[in-house]
Amino acid sequence: MFTRNGKEIQEGFIHNGKKAGYMEDRYCPKCGGAGRGPWFPDGGICYRCGGSGGHHKAFVKLYTQEQLDKLNEAAEKRRLVKIAQIEAEKAVNQETVLAQYGDLIQRARPFVERNSFISDIVYKLENGIFPTDKQVIALEKVISMLSQQDEKKAEKGEAPLGKQMVVGTICTVKRQYSQFGIQEKMLVELENHSTVWGSVGKALWEMVPCSGEARRLFDEGDLDASFKARFRGVKVQFEADFSHADNDSTHSFFKRPVKFSLV
Ligand SMILES: [Zn+2]
Repeated sequence: MFTRNGKEIQEGFIHNGKKAGYMEDRYCPKCGGAGRGPWFPDGGICYRCGGSGGHHKAFVKLYTQEQLDKLNEAAEKRRLVKIAQIEAEKAVNQETVLAQYGDLIQRARPFVERNSFISDIVYKLENGIFPTDKQVIALEKVISMLSQQDEKKAEKGEAPLGKQMVVGTICTVKRQYSQFGIQEKMLVELENHSTVWGSVGKALWEMVPCSGEARRLFDEGDLDASFKARFRGVKVQFEADFSHADNDSTHSFFKRPVKFSLV
């Protein structure tokens, strides 16, 4: 006779009604019969069996080789049917997802290497997993953001290098807090659309008045917003020491800006 797992039992089995089998000692599965928890440093009472150890006898059914073969055959059949079902469902889903989101996948694919959110979603879509509405909206957003970045970059010219005089428009300014105190930085777009990043010169503060929107925000106490409103869109000429950004010759950092004038 055999157990359900195929282990042969030679002797000592009994009959419970028509069924052959044997009695087996069983214990609490949590503490293994100890009644105390090895997971407590002081070996506290096992919460599963309340300290009893849970000892009991269980009837284990045994099978003839023939019965076992039949059971295994049926189990294998069920397993294959289940796999076929899952595969069929997946194929149907895949077709539906591709029909519905094929265009989106097409537009997302160029960005999979650059963005883990996009690569994750595209992988799911290609494997027939339906996206949520939120995921679709987020995907569209990221695609459009990256496309715009690419378009902008494509039209950017070479950024300045070395000591030069440049003319450009301040896109934005930012206060950075570091161990050296507060530093005021600006992003300037030059006439060939390349960008440069560096300090807002002291001289520039004196040239650009705090008026209109900037004054109103200043009076309201929103100093960061006032700072941004004051300098955004200002067209400026200055000289500085430029160096290219790593892997991007359309963007430079500058040091020691001098000879400021408004254009
Ligand atoms: Zn226990």
